[in-house]
Amino acid sequence: MSAKILDGKWVRDQILAELKPRIERMKAAHRPPGLAVILVGHDPASEIYVRSKIKTCGDLGIYSEKVTPPETISTEDLLGIIEGLNQRNEIDGILVQAPLPKQIDKRSILLGVSPDKDVDGFHPLNVGCLVADIPAPRACTPAGILELLRRYEIPIAGKNAVVVGRSDIVGKPMALLLLHQHATVTICHSKTANLPGECRRADILVGAIGKPALLTRDFIKPGATVIDVGQNRGPDGKGLVGDVDPEAMKELSSAYTPVPGGVGPLTIAMLMSNTVQAAEQHLCCS
Ligand code: NDP
Repeated sequence: MSAKILDGKWVRDQILAELKPRIERMKAAHRPPGLAVILVGHDPASEIYVRSKIKTCGDLGIYSEKVTPPETISTEDLLGIIEGLNQRNEIDGILVQAPLPKQIDKRSILLGVSPDKDVDGFHPLNVGCLVADIPAPRACTPAGILELLRRYEIPIAGKNAVVVGRSDIVGKPMALLLLHQHATVTICHSKTANLPGECRRADILVGAIGKPALLTRDFIKPGATVIDVGQNRGPDGKGLVGDVDPEAMKELSSAYTPVPGGVGPLTIAMLMSNTVQAAEQHLCCS
């Protein structure tokens, strides 16, 4: 039986379509949700990501604002911009696009965004809520993956889930979200002793590594669901290559996310979802 392709664009479109009436209701009753995106400097990849976030806001009717301080900005001045946005009622979400220049103290920036406007779900308060399974903004990429699994009705409870990668933005929150759905979760990383063996135990295998096609056929249990988060540049510097060997994934898995078109589209959808959620909360409490 051939593996099912888990189509991230299909899930993204569903999520965005469900947000539209919520946004319309807010606009009719109060004001549109508002998102501020801070883009420091001119990193070309970041510029593309930000453009696409702003465009999606426009398509949905979310008010958006792009703030573009220079590459040389100090931590204090960046914190000043964030504080200004924290104070503004019409801004519900603040996103500071990574990567930030070297001189910026990333931890201060993380703490600077008001937790109720932290639509990335990176503030330690929101990370604490994730650990405790308390509603709060969740990191967009892992939250999107959970939506994808849910909408494709892939069972999680009681399954062995293996997450390769332990970053704060993907691996760790992914593992916690799967744990809260009652998977038996293993987190692997660069010091894991027997990575292929750990991965072969996975009913749900998530690759969030940043190494092109590192997970080959030796890492995939036949019939597993494979989620490939990797977005690596191809060998010629063009195109996108995942963290999982695409041929192995197609041949061995029962379902998998392609690269591109799998996990990628989910991240923006969940950013929009977090922004709408934050706006609803701000408007109900104002
Ligand atoms: P990080 O570099 O922050 O983390 C990578 C993780 O992979 C680390 O935990 C690291 O282990 C682990 N790792 C690295 N090499 C190995 C190895 N040889 N064996 C086992 N584990 C290894 O990356 P991110 O989490 O930010 O991103 C991961 C991938 O996901 C990237 O390709 C990125 O582009 C993509 N991504 C895609 C998104 C999307 O929207 N689709 C959003 C965010 C990321 P250790 O901790 O020990 O160093």
